Amino acid sequence: MITIDGSEGEGGGQILRTTLALSLVLRTPVTITNIRKGRAKPGLLRQHLAAVNAAAAVGAAEVTGAELLSGEVTLRPTAILGGRHRFAIGSAGSTILLLQTVLPALLVADAPSQLVLEGGTHNPSAPPFPHLQRAFLPLLERMGARVRAECERPGFYPAGGGRLVINITPAALLTPFSLLERGATKRVWGVAVVANLPPSIAVREMAAVRSILGGDEESFRPQVLRDALGPGNVVTIDVESEHVTEVFTGFGERGVRAEKVGERVAREARDYLDSNAVVGEHLADQLLLPMVLAGSGAFRTVEPSSHTTTQADLLRKILGAKIRFVKDGEQSHVVEIER
Ligand code: AMP
Repeated sequence: MITIDGSEGEGGGQILRTTLALSLVLRTPVTITNIRKGRAKPGLLRQHLAAVNAAAAVGAAEVTGAELLSGEVTLRPTAILGGRHRFAIGSAGSTILLLQTVLPALLVADAPSQLVLEGGTHNPSAPPFPHLQRAFLPLLERMGARVRAECERPGFYPAGGGRLVINITPAALLTPFSLLERGATKRVWGVAVVANLPPSIAVREMAAVRSILGGDEESFRPQVLRDALGPGNVVTIDVESEHVTEVFTGFGERGVRAEKVGERVAREARDYLDSNAVVGEHLADQLLLPMVLAGSGAFRTVEPSSHTTTQADLLRKILGAKIRFVKDGEQSHVVEIER
């Protein structure tokens, strides 16, 4: 039995999800205590509970503590079940964070799987769908797994109601790779999406982005979505380079001017373009686990976030992974991984 104190490091949902994910991969029982002790509302919220239940279903597991606000969960997996699964969060909680919990095991399962995930698809403080689809999943494909993701309906906070369909073809073994150079910049483009809000918001956001990044109107398009349940506004900027695509995201918020939302995300993309980082802050914490499962890997990134250092500590603790952070420039760090 592996026991993990969920209040360590970042102290959030990521420790819970990663521990559940590794329990499934290893088919080893785990207990997580002090769940989300570092957060204002500790314990299992609806989206974390959905992740625990999803892990139990995929792992044909016995589970205790799977209740709202529970601070301790034990999972005893017996298998990794591919095939079809449908998981509904029951709130606007992030479907993509739920996916992080079961995807590592399904990548190395004996059978392909199809997941239907219902809830939020474009959430602040989580990878939004465009980041999953265009930044993260192509890197998994480079490791030999095939994962196709489709957003059938967008789900924004607070209405939710989004739906993703994910088809996973596992790899017998994940192939290691390294990402030390971005290569030439091929294309920088963006979309400002509004759902059930005035289209002028998206137009103003794209103008603000172009005032910082340059580029023509063709490359930075406002888009109106008609099929969302509630209001939503998200700006994404894709930086496509020879060896990697990064996706930067900004969410519209009540009381924050559209120009500000556009400028913020454009500055993030600008900083990335001006740096020699290959992998941005968020992709860095998400890439660690698959790279450790592949046995080795390396990437150049920005100053590691507390999500990244917490993830590295967990992977060291549970899998005995060797992960080194080597500073090789003012803002630049190389992460080296061995299992
Ligand atoms: P937690 O705060 O523990 O629930 O974990 C949040 C997860 O969402 C981490 O893996 C972050 O890297 C990821 N994340 C947060 N914001 C973004 C973003 N804008 N783009 C991509 N991933 C994100």
